[in-house]
Amino acid sequence: MMSFEFTIEKNQNPKTKPDPDKLGFGNHFSDHMFLMNYKTGKGWYDGRIVPYQPLCLDPAAAVFHYAQEMFEGLKAYRAADGRTLLFRPDMNAKRTRRTNERMCIPDLDEDLQVAAIKALVAVEKDWVPEADGTSLYLRPFIIASEPFLGVRPSDEFLYVIIASPSGSYYENGLAPTRIFVEDEYVRAAPGGTGYAKVGGNYAGALKAQEKAHDKGCSQVLWLDGVERRYVEEIGTSNAFFMIGDEIITAPLDGTILPGITRDSVLTLLRHWGMKVTERKLLLSEIFQAHEAGNLTEVFATGTAAVISPVGELIWKDKSVTINNNEIGALSQKLYDEIYGIQTGKKDDPFGWVVEI
Ligand SMILES: *Cc1c(COP(=O)(O)O)cnc(C)c1O
Repeated sequence: MMSFEFTIEKNQNPKTKPDPDKLGFGNHFSDHMFLMNYKTGKGWYDGRIVPYQPLCLDPAAAVFHYAQEMFEGLKAYRAADGRTLLFRPDMNAKRTRRTNERMCIPDLDEDLQVAAIKALVAVEKDWVPEADGTSLYLRPFIIASEPFLGVRPSDEFLYVIIASPSGSYYENGLAPTRIFVEDEYVRAAPGGTGYAKVGGNYAGALKAQEKAHDKGCSQVLWLDGVERRYVEEIGTSNAFFMIGDEIITAPLDGTILPGITRDSVLTLLRHWGMKVTERKLLLSEIFQAHEAGNLTEVFATGTAAVISPVGELIWKDKSVTINNNEIGALSQKLYDEIYGIQTGKKDDPFGWVVEI
């Protein structure tokens, strides 16, 4: 790997660390952030670590008007022996490049991205919390910063990484969720930006999330944008369905976000010799499987929760309870294995963990 030089301006007024028992998600931010600029003709330049502070942007900056932006999400974990570990940061860097390509954001070298993430975490090591389930959540993002109201790709960008100490997603262990099958609003359509990690996909999904909350559900199960018959994702996570001994998830055909947890789950299941299939899955096949007593487990995967088991699906006036609304054996096993690897408690046969 090439080496990169970043300047570091130390924060002279470090914050008092938040109460580790009351972190929650995305509420607290560390003392520093990473910044880097881009200009057409000059490329990416001036990678630097500076005190955490507000960004100063022209109100005409393109990101505010046409949403030319992208983001990523990954975590730094504290191992029992004190080491600071990242999980597959190269995958976030690769995904950034695919998102950038879709959004007309300039390409960004993978090694440079990983070096920037590592440099920030090295400065913020004290901010990686220790308690079980906690982590330092890292949010790299890129915004179009050129002040210009015309509709074309920006000639200036800002790459930023901020860090947020986060609490355990599961205060009382894995908890099955209630999911609303959304058949009115759609998240992504073929040819759209479904496979790119961009804020616009999230803004467009808030309405459905609000509807799901009103129905007493924690998230939505998205159906395909054309026929609304095939299952795609659960909220902002990938979705897995176990029917008999087959574990099924939607294929990466443009409308699905290529989750790193999804890829890790597929790799582990294949490694364990289980039957896994990436294929289109009809909602009706899920209901039929349930009626036949073959719908064994449903779970969502993502960086925030790793594995989130689904206990109940709500669709129109129908309610389907899965595995007695209890955590399935496979969900628990996947969670224990992946979280174990992330925190250095389990062997890492695939070389996923990167020490800082
Ligand atoms: C980020 C994200 C995921 C999960 O990806 P991970 O890399 O596993 O965190 C799934 N779906 C959507 C829509 C996402 O934005």
